[in-house]
Amino acid sequence: MIIVLKPTATKDEIDHIVTMIQKVGLRTNISVGESNTIIGVIGDKTKLSNTPLASLASVDSIVQVSKPYKLASRDFHPDDSVFDISGVKVGGGNLAIMAGPCSVESEKQVMIIAEAVKKSGANMFRGGAFKPRTSPYAYQGMGEEGLKLLQKASRAFQLPVVTEVMDTADVSMIADYADILQIGTRNAQNFSLLKAVGRTQRAVLLKRGMSQTIEEWLMSAEYVLSEGNPRVILCERGIRTFETAYRNTLDLIALPVVREKSHLPVVVDPSHAAGKWQYVTPMALAAIVSGADGIEVEVHHDPAKSMSDGAQALKPELFDALMNEIRKIAPVIGVGKNL
Ligand code: PEP
Ligand code: MN
Repeated sequence: MIIVLKPTATKDEIDHIVTMIQKVGLRTNISVGESNTIIGVIGDKTKLSNTPLASLASVDSIVQVSKPYKLASRDFHPDDSVFDISGVKVGGGNLAIMAGPCSVESEKQVMIIAEAVKKSGANMFRGGAFKPRTSPYAYQGMGEEGLKLLQKASRAFQLPVVTEVMDTADVSMIADYADILQIGTRNAQNFSLLKAVGRTQRAVLLKRGMSQTIEEWLMSAEYVLSEGNPRVILCERGIRTFETAYRNTLDLIALPVVREKSHLPVVVDPSHAAGKWQYVTPMALAAIVSGADGIEVEVHHDPAKSMSDGAQALKPELFDALMNEIRKIAPVIGVGKNL
């Protein structure tokens, strides 16, 4: 259930309503929109039936959200959410350009790639230190050492860091180094992990599970939001289909669908969908045109020697060319003024 307040509602009136709700044992989530403040009520709403809530002068309307996800729903927050992530705005027509290697491999590697992507116009740096590999014999990442290198690159080039967290035990340690905690496709329904990142102050990049429906994906977002962390960025990265010519099927229609259903920003990772570098640029451009709030792209200065996902890595010059294309296309559709 959500309570939409009148634009004239004062702080005291809002506090009064919140206390009333909490007194009957329910939780609240307040969202301050451009025109109205909205209070989301979490829990058994019948407990409110004996309260004067509906007749309060500050209450405009009470809306029952019939969808299984509430805080992620556009009913709860009609305006697009815009997050400030260490000075970079995500959502609301800004384009988040997260670029960097699949895995952190060495100090030299992260510094070379961070410098290159910054120069081309990326505004965030991605890199995995804890890698979810299909094979236990494949490169597993540098762990905390890798996080230190990411932090070094972040400070040197003023790029907030996006990095994956795979284990609840590592969440607070990784949160000390990262600006955005990435939940990978394989953990998209690891509910303990979703709850754990929901209890941090860090923004979360939530990849879509490789066989998740859009509703299930939004339910995963709801797990994070319901723990009190409002900053969830959704990331479409391709879903598993019968097609084998590329790695995953990039579900671009998910973008307008998610936009309709949710206020959360949604970005696209064309790299893990493509699996081959040749397909990354066209899919990145298609994502922007389809309404993505940004992209997450793998870039490597020497893909042949990359410890993971070399086949899908863009070389810095190709990433630079992609950025030039984005800067041409974005103004035509009225986005990316931040680039
Ligand atoms: C990644 O971004 O490095 C990654 C492993 O992505 P995904 O979880 O989408 O496969
Ligand atoms: Mn990868």
